[in-house]
Parts: sequence; structure tokens; C-alpha cells
Amino acid sequence: MTLDLLAIAAHPDDVELTCGGTLLKAAQAGYKTGILDLTRGEMGTRGDVETRRREAAAAARILRVRHRESLGLPDARLAADEKSKHAVARAIRALRPHCVILPYWEARHPDHYTASQLGYEGCFLAGLKRLALDGEPFRPFKILYTTAYAPVRPTFVVDITRQFAGRARAIACYASQFQPRGMERKKERKSKVHIPLDRLSDHMDLLARHYGEMIGVRYGEPFLVKELMRVEDVVRLSVRSI
Ligand SMILES: [Zn+2]
Repeated sequence: MTLDLLAIAAHPDDVELTCGGTLLKAAQAGYKTGILDLTRGEMGTRGDVETRRREAAAAARILRVRHRESLGLPDARLAADEKSKHAVARAIRALRPHCVILPYWEARHPDHYTASQLGYEGCFLAGLKRLALDGEPFRPFKILYTTAYAPVRPTFVVDITRQFAGRARAIACYASQFQPRGMERKKERKSKVHIPLDRLSDHMDLLARHYGEMIGVRYGEPFLVKELMRVEDVVRLSVRSI
């Protein structure tokens, strides 16, 4: 398999909440996309493993990813140990993604920053010719960090206005995680107005609106790259200055 874009995150639903619109947009543009969940989210307060697996598969169909798998590493105890790094490296060699989305490297939840480190080191190790793992050596070309969970200034924002409804439907697949209270569900059915599922999904929607506003569109998802962005044509730069 050769993917164009692979998103790696700690828990099922992290990808939907942070870069679901970007993944859907890439798939709509004809790119082969994928999701690599590092854990099965078994330590989550709500929902058992089998429920979360079904929810993740349903969300993947909505985001039109070609491939989604979980490495089954230990939730809430994710560690940047050799075994875990090799598991990521093996997946990178199998999926051969040109571009990889990782969580930002600082976070409140230890699994999130550990997932960032595991993702980066897995991508690096996958390219080492002398590392005896299954598969041909391969290293992705580009790494993007999603900053949706992090209070840092992103390098760029992807316009997901046309993908926002699809992203919301993918997030809504995680019924075990985001349960609208009875009254709100009734109100939503009656009014057909979008009512956020719960505080986290509400927060992520607000962030998408905020970053959209920053680039002059309705909804956006923020990313950071460590390298500088190269520009060929300064006349066609987007986003109004004054
Ligand atoms: Zn998470």
C-alpha cells in the first residue's frame, strides 16, 4: 500500500476531532488517506473496546479513508519504548505514507505527547536500512503537526468549510464518547439545528470556527510544520492583510 496522507494519534476519535476535515478534504481530492490509532482507548471512562472499534470504523467510512488500524498499544500508559517505536515503524513501512499528521509534541494528556514522539521516531526508524523489521525501508517526506489541542500559533490553516458537516458526522459516530443529553437531542431533532454533542466536541467546533475566521473562511483546522514553507508566487498568496 502507498498512502498519500496518514494521520497518527493516540486514541480513536483524536484524528476526527483534530484533523478529520483535512483528511476528508484530501480524500475528496483523490488522495489515498489512512488513520493509525496507537491505542484502542480501553482506559476511556465511557465505551468498551468493541464499541469504540465499531465507532472508529464507521467514522473512517465517513472520512473515506482507505485504511484504518489500531496498533493496540496500552491506553493511558503509552510509552516511547523500543517495542512501540518498532510497531509504528512497521506500520509506516507497510503503509508508505508520503505525508504524516502527528499530534503536537506538547499536550496535557501524556498519551498525546507520547503519540507525537512515537510517531516521529517511528517515521525515522522506518527509513533505517539496517533496522531489521518487516518491510522495505521507507521514510515519509513530510510531517505536519496538528495543533488543535495545543495553544500554539499554527503555521497554516486548512479551509474545511465544505468538509465541516462530514467531520461532524464522523465525530458523531463516537456515540459512546459524546452523548447529547436527552433534552438537547430532542431539541436537535425538532429544530434540525446543529447542537454540539458535548463540551469537547463543542470546543473543537469553536476552534474550527476560530481558525476559519483567521483565514477568512467559515471553518479551518490548524497545523504546524517545523520547516519553512516555500513560496513560488507572492502575488497569489491567499488571506487578506488589510
Ligand atoms: Zn486522545
